[in-house]
Amino acid sequence: MSAKPKVAFFDFAGCEGDQLEIINLEDRLLDLVEVVDIVSFREAMSEHSDDYEIAFVEGSITTQHDLERLEKVRSNADILIAIGACATIAGVNAIRNDQDFEKVKERVYGEDAELFDDPDAELFEAFEKAYPAQAFVDVEYQVPGCPIDGDEFIQMITLLLEGGDPSLPNHAVCVDCKIEENTCTFERGETCLGPITRGGGCDATCVTQGARCWGCRGMVDNPDDDVYEEVLQEYDVTTEQLVNEFTLYWSWERNPEYPAEPPEVQQ
Ligand code: SF4
Ligand code: SF4
Repeated sequence: MSAKPKVAFFDFAGCEGDQLEIINLEDRLLDLVEVVDIVSFREAMSEHSDDYEIAFVEGSITTQHDLERLEKVRSNADILIAIGACATIAGVNAIRNDQDFEKVKERVYGEDAELFDDPDAELFEAFEKAYPAQAFVDVEYQVPGCPIDGDEFIQMITLLLEGGDPSLPNHAVCVDCKIEENTCTFERGETCLGPITRGGGCDATCVTQGARCWGCRGMVDNPDDDVYEEVLQEYDVTTEQLVNEFTLYWSWERNPEYPAEPPEVQQ
């Protein structure tokens, strides 16, 4: 990697909330541009260059057009980093993966669903399912979350530039939650995905703010289902009651697909 590596940001299907988190870093973003050369960042600048070493990719891959763009980014970059749940685990976009695509189109687009039949419209190339970047190309690193945590983003890029290993942390959100001394949501009569969700970057902020963990950082590696079952039993919660929560962020992750061939486009 060069002394001041060239960095580019790309967005696919998503709300661009992760890029917004990065822009909101304000002063720290100015520190960042002292050590990297940002050559492409549509949300923040009009210039664009295809000459970069590190590519940050946000959003899911949901069309043939997305896939072709992603492959081009991959071939240009030495290091590709997925940021946010949509890019790392297909996130909320993958809620559709287990549903009838015809009904999904009608529900989302109404009469405009007919655009899927129009060869001149971008929707013409839509895939039935949403995929994370890693389903199609090698991804060196990930920054999880919905949206990502700005501090975690800075930490990971600092580690990368210093030659460290910015791999994903692999402990449950419950660990962070205990450090924050939160009252467990199960004690409040609510459910929580914290026992099997990857912590280490969000500081259990949702629980700290009075909500619960919805699993946006993805599952820990080898989640201990037995221990989670024990927690659910202790609080008289069935896994059936949690189906919708498992679906919100984990639809792709629970049934991961790595298509050898590009998926067929849906008309
Ligand atoms: S991961 Fe969340 S914040 Fe990022 S693009 Fe997707 S929906 Fe938006
Ligand atoms: S509130 Fe959730 S994350 Fe916190 S300890 Fe309880 S189960 Fe774990």
